[in-house]
Amino acid sequence: MLACGGFESNAEMRTRYLGPTWDLAKVRGTRFNTGAGINMALAIGAKPHGNWSGGHAVGWDMNAPEFGDLEVGDNFQKHSYPLGIMVNANGLRFVDEGADFRNYTYAKYGAVILSQPQQFAWQIFDSKVLDKLRDEYRIKRMTKVRADTIEELAKKLEGVDEQQFLKTIKEWNASVMTEVPFNPAVKDGRGTRGLAVPKSNWANTIDQAPFEAYAVTCGLTFTFGGLKISTEGEVESTDGHPIPGLFAAGELVGGLFYHNYPGGTGLVSGAVLGKLAGDGAGRYVAGKN
Ligand SMILES: Cc1cc2nc3c(=O)[nH]c(=O)nc-3n(C[C@H](O)[C@H](O)[C@H](O)COP(=O)(O)OP(=O)(O)OC[C@H]3O[C@@H](n4cnc5c(N)ncnc54)[C@H](O)[C@@H]3O)c2cc1C
Repeated sequence: MLACGGFESNAEMRTRYLGPTWDLAKVRGTRFNTGAGINMALAIGAKPHGNWSGGHAVGWDMNAPEFGDLEVGDNFQKHSYPLGIMVNANGLRFVDEGADFRNYTYAKYGAVILSQPQQFAWQIFDSKVLDKLRDEYRIKRMTKVRADTIEELAKKLEGVDEQQFLKTIKEWNASVMTEVPFNPAVKDGRGTRGLAVPKSNWANTIDQAPFEAYAVTCGLTFTFGGLKISTEGEVESTDGHPIPGLFAAGELVGGLFYHNYPGGTGLVSGAVLGKLAGDGAGRYVAGKN
């Protein structure tokens, strides 16, 4: 029974399958998920399945350790970007922070941050939304700066083109559809006009002190590619037949997620496929398969 995770903690496999710069990503969870189970199965003829170049990856504190830290847990994540903007080292926005609710964008935006110059971004908020930031913005171990003017903030954003950042903020403030009411509980359609990278919802001007900014890089949660299993939870071989006595469950099962991930489904798939594979293995041992 294989249930030992994906290959997220294996820098060599990350680079080989996810692509360039994935060796530089941080890992949100255990250091032990190095793809050992997947590799053992492939070595005896199991079929690779699913989105091998994809994974679940989020915005994660730029100075978080290489692997997860159980004392901090989830809290290196920074998921309130729909309320603000994100800028890269060039001082430019690069993604629609308000394309959808956080639950539908957070797992794919880690890869977008990884593809920015030097693999980081700063999330920018002004005082209008600070009380709405998620709990993970109130921990001690994070990369945060605060300022009373935008010019002062620009100087504090380590690694960011100061002049371009100030220009970006000016253009941003002029683009916000302030005539549309702001409502973070629904997709409010309060977007931007005339920007090369639009924001679709929850756009607010950034003009009211104090200003806060949080530095993030990519935190990889798990990889999407894995093994093909049957409806009995048995691992299938490249010729499409089950490999007798080999079962698999959890994130090393491929074919569940492609390009993105809806929040909460990792644990659900682990529980469902765990039951499936456990039942299947029980029947196999009892000679009923
Ligand atoms: C920080 C974080 C937050 C998350 N938040 C959520 C959430 O809110 N909701 C949600 O649904 N999902 C969440 N997930 C995803 C979810 O945790 C995983 O999808 C799920 O735990 C996968 O279960 P699994 O049993 O396949 O792997 P894991 O839970 O990773 O277990 C694999 C185990 O195998 C062990 N192992 C690895 N290699 C070997 C080996 N060679 N020999 C022996 N043992 C080995 C590992 O040490 C580990 O204990 C989160 C993940 C992380 C990292």
